[in-house]
Amino acid sequence: MAEMPSAEDWKREAIHLHFRNQAFIEGKYVAARSGKTFDCVNPATGEVLTKVAASDKEDVDRAVAAARKAFESGAWSRMAPAARKKKLQKLAELMIKHAGELALLETLDMGKPIRDSSSIDIPAAANCIAWNAEAVDKLYDQIAPTDPNVVALVTREPLGVVGAVVPWNFPLLMACWKLGPALATGNSVVLKPAEQSPLTAIRLGELTAEAGIPEGVVNILPGFGETAGQAIGLHDDVDGVAFTGSAEVGKLFLQYAGRSNMKHVSLECGGKTPHIVMADCPDIEAAAKAAAFGIFFNQGEVCNAGSRLLVDRRIKDEFLDKVMKVGERLQPGDPLDPKTRMGAIVDKTQLERVLGYIEAGKKEGAELRMGGKRARAESGGFYIEPTVFDKVDNRMKIAQEEIFGPVLSTITFVEPEEAIRIGNDTMYGLAAAIWTRDINTAHRAAKALRAGVVWVNCFDEGDMSTPFGGFKQSGFGRDKSIHALSKYTELKTTWIRLH
Ligand code: NDP
Repeated sequence: MAEMPSAEDWKREAIHLHFRNQAFIEGKYVAARSGKTFDCVNPATGEVLTKVAASDKEDVDRAVAAARKAFESGAWSRMAPAARKKKLQKLAELMIKHAGELALLETLDMGKPIRDSSSIDIPAAANCIAWNAEAVDKLYDQIAPTDPNVVALVTREPLGVVGAVVPWNFPLLMACWKLGPALATGNSVVLKPAEQSPLTAIRLGELTAEAGIPEGVVNILPGFGETAGQAIGLHDDVDGVAFTGSAEVGKLFLQYAGRSNMKHVSLECGGKTPHIVMADCPDIEAAAKAAAFGIFFNQGEVCNAGSRLLVDRRIKDEFLDKVMKVGERLQPGDPLDPKTRMGAIVDKTQLERVLGYIEAGKKEGAELRMGGKRARAESGGFYIEPTVFDKVDNRMKIAQEEIFGPVLSTITFVEPEEAIRIGNDTMYGLAAAIWTRDINTAHRAAKALRAGVVWVNCFDEGDMSTPFGGFKQSGFGRDKSIHALSKYTELKTTWIRLH
């Protein structure tokens, strides 16, 4: 196996990085029409990496017009699926070829450990593009079982122009979860990355051109949610929006659709995952490790983070000690150091937000057992210690609201039914996990938990072949798997009478 570069190697490479920092419209990098830019900050140091084009409504209009023109031309939308497949495979190959650079951009921009961006984010993003490419020439339309004197074709067609608005926690991966199926099914896309982490998405623009995807099919608009994001949501010529982010903004997209052209909307809006550990847990060590990584991985900035640990009262003390032992080893460090397992929080606002939740937890009477403070402040960056609360009541703010930081809330229960009730007592329903040796408890819980994904005796398992998305206010519509493709298509029925 090739040796992982050292922190010094990555830092040397970072000095020579050329940041693409403009919008990518109709195959070219362009400044925002207004000429405005915003600072792109490295959360590990607080330093400005580059100034990025602040696209707004005018730029959205330009990008949507380019996307529409490309769609109507048929250069992509009517290309044979097998030919689209080849271009997307090429894109995936280019992403792997430039994986080191993309991983470095992701880590510098967002603060996640280079170990994760290079071994998880970038390979998974490329795999998502490749998987969708592979799928698209293996899908058949249908003929309905009607009267034999007619033929009724049930076919799928691309929506047209798709807006993709994505968050900062897995910047390139979230972009590719939208781009993969949207492009595979023949749509044109206008993508707005989060303002905190636009660099990999911008770089991807160039790679789509190199892969031979026609100009105008992929447009990337860095900018703010209230301007560029809103303009995409309200645009009358955008046929569908695929969104990942907070429930609050997800609801705005529903309003935007109602106020404009009733565009399709799909939402992936976070969660408050219950991680349930029964007294008959088959492997306490594995469960404790999963509970710790489930909340501290990616600095806790994960929509399905196991932020509520629900443990049987009889084993709570022993179990929590084990979780904290793992957590102690995950102290935040320089994201460019390959040994670092927890990096920097994405920006100062999020740092303060998470610290605010920690204060709220203390005030409401939860017992702070570990961490709770800012770390490495001398670096100029935004780090938080892995934090564990015990004696949490599910009605507390830290148990109900999505913190999006490395903060675990521990809640105890006596009966399995109580664990399910507490687990479901949240506005979210993205994911849930349960550890038990009893097959009946496992099946009953899996059915009763109102969540889009349930893990039994494991946590955070995932594959491109399985759908991801939530119940309740975690949103609707699924990313990944064959099911995601239908989100980007319309069903058409064509009747042909035989004479
Ligand atoms: P937001 O929901 O605010 O942002 C997600 C995307 O929507 C970004 O591209 C953002 O742009 C855009 N956006 C923001 N406001 C608007 C608006 N008024 N109209 C249109 N688009 C808008 O999430 P944040 O990134 O600010 O994170 C806040 C919280 O959201 C987190 O703490 C977490 O709770 C949750 N979250 C959930 C995620 C998930 O995977 N489910 C991922 C990330 C966040 P911009 O960045 O420019 O504001």
